Amino acid sequence: MGTIKIDSLNALLKGVATLPSLPSIALRIIQEIKKDKASITELANIISFDPALSAKILRVANSSFYALPFKVDSIERAVNVLGMEALKNIALSFAIVRGFKRNPVDEFDHELFWKRSITSAVSAEMIALKLNMKREDTFVTPLLMDVGVLVMYLMKPDDYLRVVNKKRATKMSTCEAEISVFGFDHQDVGSEILKRWEIPENIYMPIAYHHKGQDCPANLKNMADILMLSDIISSVYHGNKSSKKFYELKRLLQERLDISEAEVSDFVDSVADKTVEILSSFEIDAGDMKPFSQILQEANEELGKLNLSYEQLVMELKQAKEMAEKLAVEAWEIKEKLREVAIKDGLTNLYNHRHFQDILDKEIPRVERYSHVLSLIMIDIDYFKKFNDTYGHPQGDIVLRSVADVFEKTIRTTDTAARYGGEEFAVILPETDIKGAVIIAEKLRQIVEKLELKLGDKIVNVTISLGVTNYDPARGRKTKAEIIDAADKALYNSKKTGRNKLSIVV
Ligand code: GH3
Ligand code: MG
Ligand code: MG
Repeated sequence: MGTIKIDSLNALLKGVATLPSLPSIALRIIQEIKKDKASITELANIISFDPALSAKILRVANSSFYALPFKVDSIERAVNVLGMEALKNIALSFAIVRGFKRNPVDEFDHELFWKRSITSAVSAEMIALKLNMKREDTFVTPLLMDVGVLVMYLMKPDDYLRVVNKKRATKMSTCEAEISVFGFDHQDVGSEILKRWEIPENIYMPIAYHHKGQDCPANLKNMADILMLSDIISSVYHGNKSSKKFYELKRLLQERLDISEAEVSDFVDSVADKTVEILSSFEIDAGDMKPFSQILQEANEELGKLNLSYEQLVMELKQAKEMAEKLAVEAWEIKEKLREVAIKDGLTNLYNHRHFQDILDKEIPRVERYSHVLSLIMIDIDYFKKFNDTYGHPQGDIVLRSVADVFEKTIRTTDTAARYGGEEFAVILPETDIKGAVIIAEKLRQIVEKLELKLGDKIVNVTISLGVTNYDPARGRKTKAEIIDAADKALYNSKKTGRNKLSIVV
């Protein structure tokens, strides 16, 4: 790590006292483990002290994970059957997840975060088992591998939301987006904070490399590799749907686990079954998590509803199966795309009017709750009717698209540009005061003014009029309609007083 990176990482972790600290029971478990001769009785005592934790451990011991031929009914028995190491890691996992769950933060989907982590943990155990590399820390290490994300979010929520938006908008990887905003990524943060919590080295070291296997020291390579694979399985279940990711996973698993294609499918399916079982031990709702083949089958049925041809499927069985799977993955992607289409405007690819309203409905209560401010800019193209009349409607469409492009490229990823109607647009600027909004509005006005639009062999120009408003709940509450109305009035004023300018109404 470079010094700048270390400095900024330290600065981030400086405020860590405000973080949920590791629950005391987890600390006591760690201390006991670190003793040269940890005693089974002592560990059992610590755990028995916490009935909820004990109950969960017994549930895990009796789950199909261990498939024991008899029932485990006491913690001491659990220690004897599962082994000291396994027990300590299970106990640690529960204690940490519970510690964080007690401190829920708005907007961060904690359930999803832990669902992902637990899916990774289950996958890692199953992969390690297949490879004969199962160790006592194969569950807890992946469980904690993304804890850096949680810490970064808790310390700097706004910055982390920028990471999320950047990732969405630019196709950067999570780590790349994190580095571009923070200067370091969740691997650095996670492994550093676990170290400070005195979690053993065998857990925090591989976490520093779970997205960069190529730079990983040889002794950590196996674990980092398992982490990487388990992360992909988890993201196939819980992340953005993409056939590329799914096929990549199948290929990787076939290669690394040295199993057939059919076995890979069974393997990925059984991750879901086991995860659902383990999630309930963590008191996390599994939601609609189901075996992957079932997800595909359902997507396939939807494809049927879309009335696409199945003729190709009448082929040899194997080919048909492959094709069915491929079509199912495509249907799944189509479904995702439909979701996107529903919120976008087809001509300009900006968000549509309804989504604009939805975003405001979401942002306004947020602004009020956190004493933030929000700005809104309404924009209308000047004399657009005349433009259409002179050059024709299709050329008008090109202008709309070019102007929309300017908005999209100029605003920040946290801002939302929408097509409000015909040739009217709106930009929502969260956490932006009136000064900031005016700067952006003026910038948009100038860029559009200088735009040289090529229509056939002609080069033409357009201008826009803008209305800017700001909502600061500290200066009195306003409804959504009142905020929009203020921006509209400002826009009307710009039109009335000459166009190609901006006005403010607050
Ligand atoms: P002002 O400066 O007062 O805004 O004048 P204007 O001509 O721009 O305003 P007006 O509201 O009278 O006209 C808007 C025009 O925008 C009328 C309509 O034909 C055109 N328009 C609306 N939607 C579209 C579209 O999707 N494509 C095209 N090409 N034109 C559109
Ligand atoms: Mg107009
Ligand atoms: Mg108009």
